[in-house]
Amino acid sequence: MKQLELLYEGKAKQVYATDDSERIIIRFKDTATAYNNLKKAVIANKGVLNNDISAMLYRHLEAAGIRTHFIEKLNERDQLCRRVSIIPIEVIVRNIVAGTMAQRLGMEEGTRPSNTIIDLCYKRDDLGDPLINDDHAVALGLVTYDELKGIYATTRRINEVLTALFDRVDITLVDFKIEYGRTSDGEIILADELSPDTCRLWDKLTGEKLDKDRFRRDLGKIIEAYGEIDRRLKRLEE
Ligand code: UDP
Repeated sequence: MKQLELLYEGKAKQVYATDDSERIIIRFKDTATAYNNLKKAVIANKGVLNNDISAMLYRHLEAAGIRTHFIEKLNERDQLCRRVSIIPIEVIVRNIVAGTMAQRLGMEEGTRPSNTIIDLCYKRDDLGDPLINDDHAVALGLVTYDELKGIYATTRRINEVLTALFDRVDITLVDFKIEYGRTSDGEIILADELSPDTCRLWDKLTGEKLDKDRFRRDLGKIIEAYGEIDRRLKRLEE
């Protein structure tokens, strides 16, 4: 597998072409951003940990029968993935109220509703990733209603698998963001990373935040928290 030109550079990752047109290499960087790019920093070693954590989570999802873009981890910073065209929708799953949902609806962070909440946001930095509904997503031409049905079903299944997985290592999966992509033959599969950058993870016993909120809210010990997630998930591999 040969790495070719840089196709895309995002806030936390680079995407490279390979000599196989159906495969790409994703490189995890150490940069972090929050609040729609207002806050930026370099967090040494974050990319290494996120690559490792995301690879472990994707392996578990694949084992549970979820179709994803993940093929294999290549080295500390890189993973080989299927090439997809990303659907510009952030699918956010919330088991516990936190972050923007708490702010927007005036709910206390930590409230556990009896239902699971799924938000859709239109991935458009220039608009601040606005919250949208199913009708908006279809009107924007991003997906069909049928495709949304599949996306919701897969998303609920992913939530079940990940919630159970984190529970085994004494972590509460508070919320997370996922993205989907279309393969060249039109299949919609899970893509992008799954890491403490994209999930809220609270220690089940102490309630300590072990995710990007440590960066957003200046709580310190960011890399220690990511390392703790990595270590606990590794226990499941033994
Ligand atoms: N999230 C993300 N990327 C985004 C927006 C949200 O990964 O562009 C994740 C975030 O880390 C959290 C969940 O989605 O785990 C819900 O985020 P929220 O809507 O509360 O917004 P935030 O507090 O991240 O601005």
